[in-house]
Amino acid sequence: MQGLITKSTGSWYQVQTPEGRRVDCRIKGKFRIKGITTTNPVAVGDSVDFDMEPEQETGVITTLHERKNYIIRKSINLSRQAQIIAANLDQAFLVVTLASPRTSLGFIDRFLVTAEAYHIPARLIFNKLDLFSKEGLDILAEYSAIYEKLGYPCYHVSATKNLHVDKVIEQLKDRTSLFSGHSGVGKSSLINTILPELSLRTTEVSEWHDKGMHTTTFAEMFELPFGGFIIDTPGIREFGIVDIEQSELGRLFPEIRQHMEDCRFKNCRHINEPGCAVLTAVENGEIELSRYESYLSIYHGNDTRA
Ligand code: GDP
Ligand code: ZN
Repeated sequence: MQGLITKSTGSWYQVQTPEGRRVDCRIKGKFRIKGITTTNPVAVGDSVDFDMEPEQETGVITTLHERKNYIIRKSINLSRQAQIIAANLDQAFLVVTLASPRTSLGFIDRFLVTAEAYHIPARLIFNKLDLFSKEGLDILAEYSAIYEKLGYPCYHVSATKNLHVDKVIEQLKDRTSLFSGHSGVGKSSLINTILPELSLRTTEVSEWHDKGMHTTTFAEMFELPFGGFIIDTPGIREFGIVDIEQSELGRLFPEIRQHMEDCRFKNCRHINEPGCAVLTAVENGEIELSRYESYLSIYHGNDTRA
């Protein structure tokens, strides 16, 4: 039988069949994926084959189908180990806030670079619109202009006041959409507004200061009544960029990609080389300084956790 992984607890996987039946499955044997060492062989969004266990309500996953794409996270402690967060995504949303708590531009850029690396179209949701002052709205417009220009659609919403959430909903139909964001940005509230029957647990802002606190520990997939799926992820504090060569990084910034062909040297790092078209573009404002700083930060492997 074939199905879709809709939930994972580490050892058990919930598999949904095309008819909508849900079966709890385990994994038997070794699932090796070429090139990467992962702590979880199968993730939410994976398409698998499974067999029912004799005389049981449970099943055993026997085959993992080829993935269209996947998103991965480095373990915080074991730097060589990686966790697959989700597979077979059509798009990835990052929920961010400019205050309470503030999402750094570095965090946003790391997310976008990761999405580019895995060829997943990315969109940004600026939440808590109801809290914005006039100055806040100006900054919001400025940030959105930066990202819209690069091809990342931006949405300005309030999850709790249900402002403009319909604009996000329009994008979800018949697609598998990943939702990410660090704790406290209102991701659970937003998903609850999109899917009121779900009622995900939300936390008070004071609680996310506690580093050990996660409202959601494993990625989970929710079916949308109008078609499509939402994948919710654990409060991702660190979107580790796995396996990106320094020489590949420029291509993952659309605006650097656009200028790098004009650099004097083919192997230009865009750091201090003479005749670097990227540096020229930064100087004349064609490339946003914050974006270039994110490039340098990721290039040098600096930690830019929000
Ligand atoms: P998560 O950790 O990203 O899932 O965030 P939660 O959904 O648990 O929300 C964190 C806190 O922010 C809660 O106290 C929510 O009530 C609050 N919150 C979420 N969305 C909004 C919003 O649009 N406006 C305001 N003012 N507060 C919000
Ligand atoms: Zn250059």
